[in-house]
Amino acid sequence: MRLYDQHLHTWNSFDCKTPPEQNVAEALEKGLAGLTFTDHFDTHPSEWPECKYDDAKIAREIDALRDRFGDRIFIGKGIEVCYQPERMDFILEFLAKHTFDVVLLSVHWAHGKPVHVREHFDGMDPHTFIHDYLTAARDATAHIAHMQEHGGHPFHILGHMDFAKRYANRYWGFDEPINEPQLIDEILRNCLRANLIPEINTSTLRNKMAEPMPGKDTVQRYADLGGTCMSLGSDAHSPQYVGENFDDAVGIMRSAGIKHLAVFRDGEMKPVDVD
Ligand SMILES: [Zn+2]
Ligand SMILES: [Zn+2]
Repeated sequence: MRLYDQHLHTWNSFDCKTPPEQNVAEALEKGLAGLTFTDHFDTHPSEWPECKYDDAKIAREIDALRDRFGDRIFIGKGIEVCYQPERMDFILEFLAKHTFDVVLLSVHWAHGKPVHVREHFDGMDPHTFIHDYLTAARDATAHIAHMQEHGGHPFHILGHMDFAKRYANRYWGFDEPINEPQLIDEILRNCLRANLIPEINTSTLRNKMAEPMPGKDTVQRYADLGGTCMSLGSDAHSPQYVGENFDDAVGIMRSAGIKHLAVFRDGEMKPVDVD
């Protein structure tokens, strides 16, 4: 079984200093079949000045890596788009003008507030925080499903579906399975309508949390609703984390009956067996 890491960062993200080559070296070391760079594309007016996504520079760096390592490993060019409904025209125009193996959609903001900035949530409890986040993720995925039904398919993967879990752990020490069956169902159904593949993001496991994002109950529910493929992402911001904890994630997929990884090249999805 050979796996693909379709969510990781480099010095082309505001919050990461890794030279891309170090990620390739680690992926080879771990025996991955491929890795896809997904640097941040953050368009909220308060974050846009910090955004380092320079498509020409990234394409040059990836071309050079493909020349050196392309016979040993697949090296993909992707992007992690931060969902900002007010910036959708700008985002879609940018995506249409550039080429990607995969486009990841991630909800990092909920109801006008960045989830990763603690001061916005002083005095809140983790359950409300997670509930509010999931309503934002529900609305975002409904928007993408609506686009799909009108012939648009600019996004391929939904990043870290219950992302608020990572911050609920940081802010309040929260580490429980998510207990929001109705919202999780709505998000999963929207993903199926939108042809948006949910990722299993393993970053919480290296932070010593019990489950990846999402955890096993959600993966099982996705399978029960008819989901057949998922993506794996380490969300590595340091090279040693590329492909980290993928055995755990594959174990969760297998026990839920999800038998395929969704691997993207040139925006086309190919299912790869995890059996
Ligand atoms: Zn993210
Ligand atoms: Zn990321």
